[in-house]
Amino acid sequence: MLKTKPQELLNIDYKPPKTGWMKTPVDFRPGTWCYSALPKNLRVLGLPNPRDWQPSDEDWKLPPNWKETIIRGFKERLDRFRSFKLFLDICVRCGACADKCHFYIGSGDPKNMPVLRAELIRSVYRRYFTAAGKILGELCGARDLTEDVLKEWFYYFYQCTECRRCSVFCPYGIDQAEITMMGRELLNLVGCNINWILEPAANCYRTGNHLGIQPHTFKDMIEFFLDDIENITGIRIEPSFNRKGAEILFVTPSGDVFADPGTYTLMGYLMLFHEIGLDYTWSTYASEGGNFGLFSSHEIMKRLNAKMYAEAKRLGVKWILGGECGHMWRVIHQYMNTMNGPADFLEEPVSPITGTKFENAKATKMVHIVEFTADLIRNKKLKLDPSRNDHLRVTFHDSCNPARAMGFFEEPRYVLKNVCNNFFEMPEETIREKTFCCGGGAGLGTDENLEMRMRGGFPRANAVQYVHEKHGVNRLACICAIDRATLHSLMDYWVPEVQVTGIHELVGNALVMKGEKPRELDLRGEPLMGTEGGGDV
Ligand code: SF4
Ligand code: SF4
Repeated sequence: MLKTKPQELLNIDYKPPKTGWMKTPVDFRPGTWCYSALPKNLRVLGLPNPRDWQPSDEDWKLPPNWKETIIRGFKERLDRFRSFKLFLDICVRCGACADKCHFYIGSGDPKNMPVLRAELIRSVYRRYFTAAGKILGELCGARDLTEDVLKEWFYYFYQCTECRRCSVFCPYGIDQAEITMMGRELLNLVGCNINWILEPAANCYRTGNHLGIQPHTFKDMIEFFLDDIENITGIRIEPSFNRKGAEILFVTPSGDVFADPGTYTLMGYLMLFHEIGLDYTWSTYASEGGNFGLFSSHEIMKRLNAKMYAEAKRLGVKWILGGECGHMWRVIHQYMNTMNGPADFLEEPVSPITGTKFENAKATKMVHIVEFTADLIRNKKLKLDPSRNDHLRVTFHDSCNPARAMGFFEEPRYVLKNVCNNFFEMPEETIREKTFCCGGGAGLGTDENLEMRMRGGFPRANAVQYVHEKHGVNRLACICAIDRATLHSLMDYWVPEVQVTGIHELVGNALVMKGEKPRELDLRGEPLMGTEGGGDV
């Protein structure tokens, strides 16, 4: 927990510094940046310049030719990604995005305005790649690439969660997330990266999941929850692992398997699949849906995404069902088909229970668990008792990636309204495509960065506080594993009365299973309303 009290953190100074932005050096204040990546992780990933260093060091131990490397990498990316060049060229500095970033709102630092964050890299683009910038220099907003500029890039590109809220308000649709991704790629070329991103990616290379868990432990962990489910429902579930010939491969972020409250969501998946008799298998090799490549480089993203499809091919399944995750879905929806597709060896997904053809997944062959469940409910295939969630008053956080990258707004709400009786929306300006980020996405959800996370997460927490005070909300639902981890700390700090949940935890509570014993406990082992003293629901 952050030591600074919430009221102190709210003393935000929005006055810009007296010096111009090019003359204001970056200040690596503790609590606002992430530790550097360990050399061992760079070696696993084949990234350059592994060494011991920290961003607060004077000497970053850059390679001797670091400047040439970055300028060359810059040119390669301008040639390869037309969107990057376009975004650098077309900004008219109208300022519509300026106050839309949660990091600016929470910190008051002008370099956290999306327009100025982009200017950090655009100024270098002008200097080396435009005629005006080469001749006029600072007069036209161009500047040399120096070590100080590199440090500024590091600080501010690792203070952007690639959430894309600002792009919703930009009249030209300039996508700051894409600019941040390019900034991080360029930093990677000279070994300037953070451990919270590269360790999970390296672990995925080694064992298939972010936490570096071995296949047998992955299986043991899932089996551990079968006992809990049996205690609550009286039903013993027997999932299968690495089963060739299953109809469906199920992949979810490893956070669901290893950390509360994601584990309760996992119990909900297991109960649902058992109840509908789904012919599916887990994989202990493709044991991660999340993709930290999205936060570091296209090459890593591509490789991590390919693993799920390689496993689907090996097992001979028809299609893939994916769990509640954020960045997994952004990669699937926006990049998979051009990076690794088309997945022609799989079939267009059809629900074996309802017969619904998921035409939206025609290219990727991968269906989101929430749309799968919404379809089951719409076709009346589930017996649900929403009163089992009556001890909860629920609101929904649209996770940035499924919301803004997929337009996935209605299905989660449809499921929630069918499994609980007390659902309340946060204010309109803070949900759906205008949703506020958790403040810890894109690999920034680490403890050394806690002050910045609490600042960046403040707008989201403020909206939760509003529905907590107005409607007594005590549960914040979301469909992203990173959110389930980062919102947990955010609520502890800003609105401690509210706990975080995945949607399938609430589905598991409400699901009336054939042959179950009378339920007295929810999936967290807490008494259901009306059973506090024991007895039937
Ligand atoms: S809203 Fe778009 S065009 Fe306007 S300043 Fe921001 S990025 Fe530039
Ligand atoms: S954190 Fe989100 S709103 Fe802020 S600059 Fe990055 S993409 Fe835009």
